[in-house]
Order: sequence, then structure tokens, then C-alpha cells
Amino acid sequence: MASSSIFDILATQSALVEEASEALPFQFTQCTYALGPIRQAVYLCTTCAVPRGICSACSVACHTDHEQIELFPKRNFRCDCPTRGLSHSCTLHTVLEVENAENTYGQNFKGLFCRCSRTYDAQTERETMIQCVACEDWFHESCLNLRDRPSSRDPTPQPAAEAIQEVDDDAASDASSSGLPPPLISGTSYDALVCRDCVKGIPTLKRYAGTPGALMVIRDSASDPWRVVGEEVLAETLRDVEVTDGDAHAATAGTKRPRSGSLDEVVQAKRPKEDTVQSETTKTSSLCLAPAPNDIVRDIVSSLDDSVHSPRGAGDVFLTEGWRERWCRCSQCLPSLESHPYLLEAEETHEPPEDPDSGLSLEELGMRALQRLPRDRAIDGIRAFNEMRDELMNHLRPFAQEGKEVTEADIRGFFEAKMAATK
Ligand SMILES: [Zn+2]
Ligand SMILES: [Zn+2]
Ligand SMILES: [Zn+2]
Ligand SMILES: [Zn+2]
Ligand SMILES: [Zn+2]
Ligand SMILES: [Zn+2]
Repeated sequence: MASSSIFDILATQSALVEEASEALPFQFTQCTYALGPIRQAVYLCTTCAVPRGICSACSVACHTDHEQIELFPKRNFRCDCPTRGLSHSCTLHTVLEVENAENTYGQNFKGLFCRCSRTYDAQTERETMIQCVACEDWFHESCLNLRDRPSSRDPTPQPAAEAIQEVDDDAASDASSSGLPPPLISGTSYDALVCRDCVKGIPTLKRYAGTPGALMVIRDSASDPWRVVGEEVLAETLRDVEVTDGDAHAATAGTKRPRSGSLDEVVQAKRPKEDTVQSETTKTSSLCLAPAPNDIVRDIVSSLDDSVHSPRGAGDVFLTEGWRERWCRCSQCLPSLESHPYLLEAEETHEPPEDPDSGLSLEELGMRALQRLPRDRAIDGIRAFNEMRDELMNHLRPFAQEGKEVTEADIRGFFEAKMAATK
């Protein structure tokens, strides 16, 4: 490889800037506290070591050099960074606020996940973890009986950084655990998980568990292998749609992108026009259209209320694409759905505003930052920028002299060493 010219270095640099702006396309200048309780990505600061959650802007701006765990979206959550709940002061929302009495702090805020209450380590976790759409905790595939527990949680050859996935997200639904055989239900064949404890508290889910489109993992006895019930959704749903066309059973259009040839499209074609659908959904009927479950499922569901769980299944429900549209909305089924609005309508998750500077080159960003500074500090800034550029060039000069290729890692190494030195 020929020696790196300044052009190569600039090309590498612009690739790095591009990479950085893709990773952080958002502006982290505003704490979400003022927005009140919303569904948003929440971070746990393990350095601050209190079971409180902070918004993504505060995680970047206020707890920059602290150890953090991303807890992913939590609903009805208000940032704790500017409150008395956290002793570390917020740099974005500088008014000290009272503690958020309405936030709920489950075990995730102690760094524990799943019904097995384990800690999560992205480096060693081999299993995909799946978020319950109701309680928003995360579950191991093995704890959901989707696979045997992997013999070891040691690091695998592939990085397991993708191991935590939200099923709600289309892009992430292609679940695969590193180095493990596929799970009993693949991530692409369902859209949402409702964990056992949540199913237990929602009568309509108990009614639907194990019926078409509400998959359950069951077995005939403790010595039999696990199998899946509720997969026969296509035929069943189409029949339902034909029977109840234009009736109270029809629902609002899905918010998910339909996959080609998927159930969504077929159902879409059979559905009455949007405007009639809207008015029909609010109407309740006394005729219940919820399908009847089989005996094993009935056994599992009735055991949910006991302290001893059925050996025939845990009671978790995996809802397939289009699930929000399939509920019976009779006077019996609707109330328990209405008290959990996310079961009827997809929720919005707050995202920080996009960064208008993202995608600009390092020079452009530097110039913009300098323009915003008072003049004397701007001059200091230029001096610091020039010094850093000179240092980087000194760092890279030996590569050019020896004809060695400059890699991203070399440039990263420079910045990392620089960061470490300023700490
Ligand atoms: Zn915040
Ligand atoms: Zn912190
Ligand atoms: Zn903050
Ligand atoms: Zn678990
Ligand atoms: Zn749950
Ligand atoms: Zn019903």
C-alpha cells in the first residue's frame, strides 16, 4: 500500500464524520423534562448509582463520562436528571425540580432484566432479548421457552451487541442470537410479546392466548417437547373478516409497513373503506367474537392466577402482525383493552430533534462552533483546533514515512488517547 497522502487522511476523516453523524443524527441539547411524562428511550446511570432514569439528551450531555445502561423505550417516563432524585446536576434543564412521583422504577432500574432477574451484558449475552409490549421489561428467549438456555454465556466469535432487540421495530424483528440455533418462534413471525405476568392482568389477552395470531409455546406434558399453537392465523382471520365485514370486528388500518404478500395486505384488500372503519371501531357489540382456546391453553391460562405455574406452558403470548386490528370489541373484550391503550393503538416514542449540523465536515462543524463563540474564545478555539490538527499530523507522519496505511483505528486511537489525557 502506498503511503497515505493528506487526501487519504481527509477521506478517512470524512468517513468517520459521516459514521459519527449516522450514529448520532440527533441534537442532544434539550432535556425532555419539560415535555412531561412521555414514551422515550431511558438510560440508567450506574455511576450515579440511584435507580433513576435519564433522557437521551442528558445521557449524552450531563452524564457523558459515566457508565450507563440503555433501558430502551419506557412509557409515561419523565427525565430524572434535573430532579432532586439525582444528585448530579443537569446541564440542560438547570432548574432543580422535585422528584418525579409518577415514574415507575421496575427492576430494570437496578440493572436487572427478565423474570430470571439477571444483569445484561451486551458483550457476553448470547440470547436475543425481547421486550414485553405491556411492562416493557426484557426477556431471554430461553425464559420464554423459545430455546434451551445456552450452555455458556461466554463471549461468542461474533459481537453480541445486537442481542437486545425490540420486537416492535421492523428492522430489529429479524431476531437471531449469535452462534445459536433458531428459536422456536422466529423474530420475524410475530410483532409483539406480552409476558406472562402482563397476560395475567389483561382478561382479553387471557381470552385470546393460544388462538390464531396469539401464539403460545406449550407442551402436552413436562416430558414432551415445546411446540407452538396459534400459527394458523391466515385462514382463520380471513374467514373472520369475511363473516364480520363491515361489522364491529373491523378495525383501523395498521401502522406497520405491510410486508409483501403478508396477511396485512390480504386483509387490507378485504377491509371496508377507511372512513367507515373509523366510525365502526368505537361501536361495541354484545356478540363476542373471541375464538375459543384449546384445553392445554385453558389449563395454562387458569394456572396464571395460581402461585404454581403449569408445566405445560409459561403463559407468554406472541402477537402476530396486524394484532391490534383483530381484537373483538364486544362489551366484554373492549374494557380491558381500553385500560391499556397501547393494545389498541401503536404508541409514539419521542425522538430528539434531528441535528441540522449532522453530516457536515469537521471543518464546517468547527467553523460553526467558532462563529457562536465570543471573539477572544473564538481565537482560543482556532488555536486549539490548529494544535489538535498539528498533533494529529505528527501522529500520522510516521505512517506516511514508513509507507504504512492509516486505518480508522489509528485515528480513533489518537482521539482516544487525547480524551484519556484530558480526563
Ligand atoms: Zn433529561
Ligand atoms: Zn451519572
Ligand atoms: Zn440532564
Ligand atoms: Zn431470563
Ligand atoms: Zn410484561
Ligand atoms: Zn368479545
